Amino acid sequence: MSRVWNFSAGPAVLPEAVLRQAAEEMLDWQGAGMGVMEMSHRGKEFTAIAAQAEADLRELLAVPANYRILFMQGGAIAANAIIPMNLMGERRVADYVVTGAWSQKSQKEARKYAEVNIAASSEASGFTTVPAMEAWRLSPDPAYVFTCTNETIDGVEYPFEPDLARLGRGEVPVVADMSSHILSRVIDVSKYGLIFGGAQKNIGPAGLTLVIVREDLLGHAMPHCPTAFDFRTVADNGSMYNTPPTYGIYIAGLVFQWLKRQGGVAAIEAQNVAKAKLLYDFLDGSDFYENRVDRACRSRMNVPFFLRDEALNDAFLAAAKDAGLVQLKGHKSVGGMRASIYNAMPLAGVQALVDFMRDFAARRG
Ligand SMILES: *Cc1c(COP(=O)(O)O)cnc(C)c1O
Repeated sequence: MSRVWNFSAGPAVLPEAVLRQAAEEMLDWQGAGMGVMEMSHRGKEFTAIAAQAEADLRELLAVPANYRILFMQGGAIAANAIIPMNLMGERRVADYVVTGAWSQKSQKEARKYAEVNIAASSEASGFTTVPAMEAWRLSPDPAYVFTCTNETIDGVEYPFEPDLARLGRGEVPVVADMSSHILSRVIDVSKYGLIFGGAQKNIGPAGLTLVIVREDLLGHAMPHCPTAFDFRTVADNGSMYNTPPTYGIYIAGLVFQWLKRQGGVAAIEAQNVAKAKLLYDFLDGSDFYENRVDRACRSRMNVPFFLRDEALNDAFLAAAKDAGLVQLKGHKSVGGMRASIYNAMPLAGVQALVDFMRDFAARRG
């Protein structure tokens, strides 16, 4: 068996220790005589697995007691509809901060359920920056302000937490799509009304969607909101109103335990800072490659870059693959290359990438 360095944006690399434990437990989970995929979600074994995963996540992110953790399905794209259906209540308008492809998609979907006010947009810059909060134009009474705090496709990450109290609007809940950087850095959950993300970037397998929601935001769903997607129903039933993605929850739980063994979120953040610095410093020092994102807003997780001579793109990807470095092709809307360096990508993987890129530039520059 040989594993490559996998820079996929998602589904993405998982910690090898987690995959090994899952493989060992595949046929017989801790003496149960069956694997986790074969268990009833209401049995005592799986109930314990889900409760442990939730407790570990609560500890890792220091989730306050008045927030509920929901394990759902549909991914972040379905959440773009589920969120307005749950949060609009009697209000008419929702505010959106558009900083890249994902928040753009979110605001378009929300128009089915709400009047959307674009409070700020960095589209004119080609999505290379995050508008400062002081420039956000909030509407008088929005149901919430939507943000995507790490734009996976554009490689743009908020350099600040969207804390509306700083604008004197602390009463408006902030919604944050954290799909691609949740658990990569320390956050203050109390600054948000709702945090959500698909699991397949930094948590576990596709199919599981995580929602962390403040309790007062439950119970306002539109009458036509599907029962299985009403946050109140999901919360009241401990995420088991319908059958949850059990195997995804189990793997996520193993990832949470792995994170705790790494020293928790602050410790993994320090590693992520070092990994990103290694790659961005190399890009900035090179006249062969470039990254075009505003330096203050560069993502630590998703690093888009370009070869200045784009005619070499195919040769670059082929040589990278030969060197055991895969999934480096950029998203089609941005072009060029993208290296996603999530929690499970060790510093050694980023070092291997930089070494390869230096060597390729020396041979082809
Ligand atoms: C990947 C991603 C999505 C889409 O997730 P799905 O699971 O395909 O619904 C949405 N938002 C962000 C920030 C993402 O990284």
